[in-house]
Amino acid sequence: MKRFIPPDGVMGRRSPLEPPSGGESLSISSIENFPRELVPVEIPPHTVMLRGIGWDSNVYLVRAGKEVLIIDTGTGVNWHVYTHIWEKRGYLSGVEKAIIFNTHEHFDHVGGNTALKEWLNRKGIEVLFAAHERTAETLEMGDDYIILAYSYGRKFEPQEVDISLEDGDRLKIGTLKLELIHTPGHTAGSACLYLDDGETRVMFTGDTLFNGTVGRTDLPTGNGWKLKESLERLLEFDVDFGLPGHGKYIEDWKRNIERVLRWPQ
Ligand SMILES: [Zn+2]
Repeated sequence: MKRFIPPDGVMGRRSPLEPPSGGESLSISSIENFPRELVPVEIPPHTVMLRGIGWDSNVYLVRAGKEVLIIDTGTGVNWHVYTHIWEKRGYLSGVEKAIIFNTHEHFDHVGGNTALKEWLNRKGIEVLFAAHERTAETLEMGDDYIILAYSYGRKFEPQEVDISLEDGDRLKIGTLKLELIHTPGHTAGSACLYLDDGETRVMFTGDTLFNGTVGRTDLPTGNGWKLKESLERLLEFDVDFGLPGHGKYIEDWKRNIERVLRWPQ
């Protein structure tokens, strides 16, 4: 049997923290006792990280008052697990508005968009989609040459993106403002979000940068030279926690980037 290789698997060595299994969905009863990898990682004062299950991207929640930002949504196989954890922990209580931001166009980051929006709408929460303009264009066309839903045996329906962002634009969530940094390389639409709330500085890196490695550049619209330039740009930011699209968070921001930049592209 041919082994399934996820398009967003990290380049080089695989992260030891990468979950072992693929596309199966977990039942709510199996998560009641919170397996260790499903325990939310809280990054005070605003951010909660959920490690992606199977091929899913990590899913982040940033809360500011009655508004939340959700960053990436996984393949859509396990969205009910993430919402269950958010509800159980009370992260969404009193929330009226949500923005779902996608760090890039790949299916393992956007596949849960529609299901999450519908679920939030049923809770009476208004939902807007946001992305860098290149990613927005791809999602609106439903361009599966780039999105790669087919490699997961799934289909991505074209989706309207309400907020299309350019490099340097700021995304507002309650009183918070997150800066969008366009970081092409893994894909043309890849972007990071920078949040400095005066207490903690975090960077959501999607598949541009992981803990100890970088995203692959051999997929459609990928470009190794651009990835290098993007990483050099990210090096200029002061970051307490790098929050990647897969795997563990990054604590030593500059050293982590310097180390991956030493690799030949
Ligand atoms: Zn990706």
